[in-house]
Amino acid sequence: MFEKILIANRGEIALRIQRACREMGIRTVAVHSTADAEAKYVKLADESVCIGPAPSALSYLNIPAVISAAEVTDAEAVHPGYGFLSENADFAERVEQSGFVFIGPRPDTIRLMGDKVSAKEAMRKTGVPCVPGSEGALGEDPAENLRIARSIGYPVIIKAAAGGGGRGMRIVHTESTLLGAISLTRSEANAAFGSSQVYMEKFLEHPRHIEIQVMADTHGNAVFLGERDCSMQRRHQKVIEEAPAPGLPVKLRDKIGERCAAACRKIGYRGAGTFEFLYENNEFYFIEMNTRVQVEHPVSEMITGIDIVHEQIRVAAGERLGYSQKQIQFRGHAIECRINAEDPYTFMPSPGRITQYHTPGGPGIRVDSHVYQNYLVPPNYDSMVGKLISYGNTREQAIARMRTALSEMVIEGIRTNIPLHQELMNDPNFIFGGTGIHYLEEKLKR
Ligand code: ADP
Repeated sequence: MFEKILIANRGEIALRIQRACREMGIRTVAVHSTADAEAKYVKLADESVCIGPAPSALSYLNIPAVISAAEVTDAEAVHPGYGFLSENADFAERVEQSGFVFIGPRPDTIRLMGDKVSAKEAMRKTGVPCVPGSEGALGEDPAENLRIARSIGYPVIIKAAAGGGGRGMRIVHTESTLLGAISLTRSEANAAFGSSQVYMEKFLEHPRHIEIQVMADTHGNAVFLGERDCSMQRRHQKVIEEAPAPGLPVKLRDKIGERCAAACRKIGYRGAGTFEFLYENNEFYFIEMNTRVQVEHPVSEMITGIDIVHEQIRVAAGERLGYSQKQIQFRGHAIECRINAEDPYTFMPSPGRITQYHTPGGPGIRVDSHVYQNYLVPPNYDSMVGKLISYGNTREQAIARMRTALSEMVIEGIRTNIPLHQELMNDPNFIFGGTGIHYLEEKLKR
């Protein structure tokens, strides 16, 4: 096992990874920008290195600075968390070339999955069902592109191969706007992602977002840790996640989960990963794979009892999974609310100093957060200040516990989206379960 790990991230996930390391007896190195110098997890780490000023591009995305920090502290492995450099294949490669272990998949796997055209092709080959669409990237021939759209059937969606974060997509409802939409998406993609490759998919009108968590070791073993329903979204950003997905037949879940685990074995996947699907009319359609730990991993941990970060570290050190799919039991129900420093209705970011902070507790309540009373939420990064997770024997109990927890939680000095979560925990459609990916935006419009 490693003796020292460098955590190349900030915020709640930096603390989450640090906690796993401490539990495992591994020393930690925190890297931080000047804006995060006073953060709790920086003080709690065994060592810390300032890697640059507040803007991410100069600190958390600064590859040479992160590598140097690993060198001067003599760390053995680097955990990238989520966001920042976590899905940057060049970074993973530099980490390995510099003699450190990258806690994540091989760089070529990250590269394969980072390009959505190659990812879809790989998935199709391994038997994972995909959204009907163009075979690979679209060419320049207008007649051919019109033909592809006609064969798929409108509406279609044009997506950038290198897109991410919900950007680089355009929906097309009629043939007359198709060619214009393709060239617009191309030029936007080129400007934003440095690649003008685009592809076409059928636009699913009322899907849910259901994803499968996988874990694979370097000895050819792979399992799935159940599914998560992340349909409650605004602007493609997840707001609430839960496991299991309400109303999803267990047989369907097991079938798609097995497919994902088999795909991992076929491509030699290593570590934790997530297959994201749109789910409509009892069918799964692969949209992308995330080759890292996800924000919403705790809900899977709650229902399986498996510590995903712990497992990431173990398999990166070359250990075997040590359990079979059959030994993984799904018990109870878990819900996660992302607590953001933002206005609950206008969604304007609300950084600043937290003047009062009280966390909820009691049975089945987990708070993953790096903030504390008097903490200054910097304006430079993502607005998420923590995650509130509830667990119950049933979904009803998890919702009831979440309601109580939200009512106990106090964060003052900044605005947060707690009131929105409170409203959603009392929303009859959410309570019924199985709302689609457009539900929240439609509700907000009303
Ligand atoms: P990103 O990497 O930017 O998150 P995704 O491919 O995961 O891109 O798509 C993001 C979101 O866009 C999905 O969660 C879904 O809401 C919507 N979307 C993507 N593809 C389709 C599709 N074929 N039909 C309907 N909605 C889609």
